Amino acid sequence: MTIVLASRNRKKIAELKAILQSSFANIEILSLDDVGFFEEIEENGTTFEENARIKALAASRSGYIGIGDDSGLTVDALGGAPGIYSARYASHYGGLEDHCDEANNRFLLARLKGVPKERRTGAFVCSIACVFPDGRECVVRGEAKGLILEEYRGGGGFGYDPLFFYEPLQKTFAELDAKEKNQISHRAKAIAALAEQLKTMIDSSKED
Ligand code: IMP
Repeated sequence: MTIVLASRNRKKIAELKAILQSSFANIEILSLDDVGFFEEIEENGTTFEENARIKALAASRSGYIGIGDDSGLTVDALGGAPGIYSARYASHYGGLEDHCDEANNRFLLARLKGVPKERRTGAFVCSIACVFPDGRECVVRGEAKGLILEEYRGGGGFGYDPLFFYEPLQKTFAELDAKEKNQISHRAKAIAALAEQLKTMIDSSKED
């Protein structure tokens, strides 16, 4: 089975490979570059699921199973923002030119200024879509719930990790090592759900 992952992010490709290779004996995972797809994919969906599907559909044009993902942080007190704009929160909502992790985190803290701890709930969300060359599709979602702190804690991870406090471990995501994060993260949960769905879809193709 060959899968084309609609990503150029080496970390994501490696993470997906590790989990899928432990679930499927003969699986080859290629990137867009590997199949000679160099165009930018326009992510113009309005939900994580739509954006993941747009990317999966583009990757499936290679003739192989296409997989796309989209992820981000949703904060309840902000009506779900930054949501699908997580990577460029400070520029999309704040009009700031900068949208690096630091600018996004500062902007998030400013938006939550004065919001009490019990209302600082949120979740990291990851949607992964899969499109088979014969048109069959599936989409899965993984979530990790947490609290947005008022100051940074921890030096690991990326993005909003230093502000995202995961209560079951009493640590922020930036205080977890990669192995711990990969056991409980939104992405790990979505990848595990994807492996299950793929098994069902592949078994049903064998029965046809
Ligand atoms: P992407 O769609 O996976 O590239 O993620 C979009 C944005 O969501 C990233 O740029 C981060 O700001 C945020 N994000 C997604 N997953 C994580 C995570 O595990 N930790 C911290 N931030 C994340």
